[in-house]
Amino acid sequence: MTTWVYSFGGGAADGRAEMKELLGGKGANLAEMSAIGLPVPPGFTITTEVCTYFYEHDRKYPDDLRDQMNAALTRIEDLVGAKFGDPKNPLLLSVRSGARASMPGMMDTVLNLGLNDETVEGLARNAGDRRFAYDSYRRFIQMFGDVVLGVDHHHFEEILELAKEDHGYMLDTELTAEDWAKVIEDYKAKVLAETGEPFPQSPGDQAWAAVGAVFGSWMNQRAITYRRLHDIPADWGTAVNLQAMVFGNMGDDCATGVAFTRDPATGDNSFYGEYLVNAQGEDVVAGIRTPQNLTLHGKKMNGSKLPAMEEVMPEVFGQLNDVRLTLEQHYKDMQDIEFTVQRGTLYMLQTRTGKRTAAAALKIAAEMVAEGLIDEKEALLRIDPASLDQLLHPTLDPEAERKVIARGLPASPGAASGKIVFTADEAEAQAGAGETVILCRTETSPEDIHGMHAAVGILTTRGGMTSHAAVVARGMGRACVAGAGELRIDHKSGVMRVRDLELREGDLITLDGSTGEVMQGAVPTVQPELSGDFATVMSWADRHRSMGVRVNCDTPQEAKVAVAFGCEGIGLCRTEHMFFDAQRIVAMREMILADSGEKRRQALDKLLPYQRDDFVALFKEMGDRPVTIRLLDPPLHEFLPHEDAAVAEVAKASGLSEEQVRARSLKLVETNPMLGHRGCRLGITYPEIYEMQARAIFEAVAAVAKETGKTVVPEVMIPLVSIEQEFTVLRKLVDKVAEAVRNAEEVEIGYLVGTMIELPRACLRAGQIAEGAEFFSFGTNDLTQTAYGLSRDDAGNFLGAYEQRELIEQDPFISLDPEGVGELMLIAAERGRGTRPDIKLGICGEHGGDPASIAFCQTVPLDYVSCSPYRVPIARLAAAQAALTGHAIGAVGR
Ligand code: PEP
Ligand code: MG
Repeated sequence: MTTWVYSFGGGAADGRAEMKELLGGKGANLAEMSAIGLPVPPGFTITTEVCTYFYEHDRKYPDDLRDQMNAALTRIEDLVGAKFGDPKNPLLLSVRSGARASMPGMMDTVLNLGLNDETVEGLARNAGDRRFAYDSYRRFIQMFGDVVLGVDHHHFEEILELAKEDHGYMLDTELTAEDWAKVIEDYKAKVLAETGEPFPQSPGDQAWAAVGAVFGSWMNQRAITYRRLHDIPADWGTAVNLQAMVFGNMGDDCATGVAFTRDPATGDNSFYGEYLVNAQGEDVVAGIRTPQNLTLHGKKMNGSKLPAMEEVMPEVFGQLNDVRLTLEQHYKDMQDIEFTVQRGTLYMLQTRTGKRTAAAALKIAAEMVAEGLIDEKEALLRIDPASLDQLLHPTLDPEAERKVIARGLPASPGAASGKIVFTADEAEAQAGAGETVILCRTETSPEDIHGMHAAVGILTTRGGMTSHAAVVARGMGRACVAGAGELRIDHKSGVMRVRDLELREGDLITLDGSTGEVMQGAVPTVQPELSGDFATVMSWADRHRSMGVRVNCDTPQEAKVAVAFGCEGIGLCRTEHMFFDAQRIVAMREMILADSGEKRRQALDKLLPYQRDDFVALFKEMGDRPVTIRLLDPPLHEFLPHEDAAVAEVAKASGLSEEQVRARSLKLVETNPMLGHRGCRLGITYPEIYEMQARAIFEAVAAVAKETGKTVVPEVMIPLVSIEQEFTVLRKLVDKVAEAVRNAEEVEIGYLVGTMIELPRACLRAGQIAEGAEFFSFGTNDLTQTAYGLSRDDAGNFLGAYEQRELIEQDPFISLDPEGVGELMLIAAERGRGTRPDIKLGICGEHGGDPASIAFCQTVPLDYVSCSPYRVPIARLAAAQAALTGHAIGAVGR
């Protein structure tokens, strides 16, 4: 018999934390907390296997699920001493979804399930509080109506607003039991009108409907989008948790709150959280009331006037603080917890690994190693490499002038400037059109996820550090200022006001997510500091990785940044980028348009000194680190003049007529330039080009040797080889130039000659190519393009549809396709090493900076990865993780 239902509570549990695949994150951790003796209201988890069964069997449940659920329910009834549906002494349940990874796109929570026109009376009597009972019932109808029955929440809000208006009330708390009873009647009438069915009175029916809604929400559009953005497979499924209700809203000895065991923004080892007296959990996250700080420290840091829990409920706070320490010792990681205090008794409702900023992740990892909780390896595996990006980008220039117009909570660090947009759809549309936008909302909800992703920053006028906006922004690494209460957003007229200032859509603002400041206009930024915890963790990464990390860069400026980020060499210098400078482009064009080898040589002679000086500067910047220089690669027509003035300029310089220039340009047009006359094919047809470049490289080596005494050993790289003879011919040419420079300059010149492996044929012929090539660098941009037969410049137009329909998991230009492109790499590596066992293997396609692709590279294995300067630290950490686990690993929390 399959076990579909796992019970927990009363100091015991059927499941444990490591059963996340089966029980989902929430269920597994509730079981774990129960098992280690923490106070968890009893409940049970319906497994993710039921979700899978549900979708495989036309939305039906396994036959024996009902019996197993009934048995688990009886266990809860015994532990609580109340009965589900008993009018006198009703047990009430919460229903919560719980996938393996937290999924804000799904049905979240229904509270107070089991209430109906009869049980509400029992609750009123038992609690000794009719108002509380009726308030609980209306909350239940509202939540159940919205998330299970699909009656939009604004219907309920309207009814409630009208009721308050009728009585002249400002706050929900002013409604009496009778007022709530009337609201409930109106709610039920609305449900009937909207769904054609009365509000379900049978607690059993309510429970089944809620369970069905959780499973149903696994396939709603928001959940699908979220899964796509976070690489969560559809077949994981979700679990459902049903748990005895505890109430934080039964009076002033009750409370509810959320907390992190350490500060999730800074990583500081201080208890960090918010609570509300006499409230249900939803009130804290919904941002309806301003939450209070848990600790006196937090109160002081946030400049809050409201009393801290530490002051108001010192005893319960003490217990909560003990729970905090127990959880950290047990899980050995920072936890994000939810709790409720019912009449002075503490209950834990959730614990999970806390989302944190990259800065916090580094600090927590470093400090937990120092505290002896975890070791270096564990610390490295904890940090999501991609999140480091948050630390590598500029922060606001402290010297810059700033006009602060409002302040909110520093919810997610980093600085961002952009144009104001007021809706998630607009954010997505404008970002798609290349704009940089800040999404400004009263508060955010899971429906806004796509807009939050598209925006560089998020600003809300309501809500705390644990509001949806704050939590999601931190996870996504977007700058976020939350709860900037001085700002008023008027959606109708599309303006945001603060005092007498009016800001409209499209106006520029700047957010500082580290201070909570909102500024008018765009404020300049400065480069970040890369010392402290960052440097410590990076030094551990370097100790544990086996692959080298190089950079793709073409200028000394970029090289400087990359060296500061810890690169160990240049893996790809694209020499074509050196020709676009205003002075050089004319000579370049002359060279391209020349109609004889002689004329081409004359033009190349003009380019030679520029190119040589570039290499000298690059070699000096890189010191002893290796530098791989790729000879000219792109189709020549990319350099051609289009504007009349440019045509005239080239005509003048080359002694041709403008007509001749145009006619010659026209000849160079190709139908498929990316598959055309480019790469080494240029070197074969116009050897003088590669000759000049090789000369520039070796003369630069000689110049540096003479000037500094340093011996640079450049790695000359031939692009787009598909036939081994191409390589043989061009290698000879390079050797000949080296010999000539050696003789002319009278210095020893050492160098390597290798090739890009970026065509399927090259992978298959790698054994033959390796006879002459001393290194291979996988050009996975072109290799992906040619393996799929998919244009790298056009794929973006339609690959989105493939991702949406889950035909592919990821854009293969972003994350390496291990099955196809990866297989070609494995073949090439094996055949290349077969011929030349010490052949050096690297990657310089965009994938060289993508953590999942780096994990694949470890399996080949490659000697190094090469990526853009800002991804160097990400690659260092990802390479360490790849070495430690030996296989692909995902982000933190997966
Ligand atoms: C590649 O193809 O992966 C590569 C690095 O070269 P480029 O992007 O310049 O074509
Ligand atoms: Mg290429």
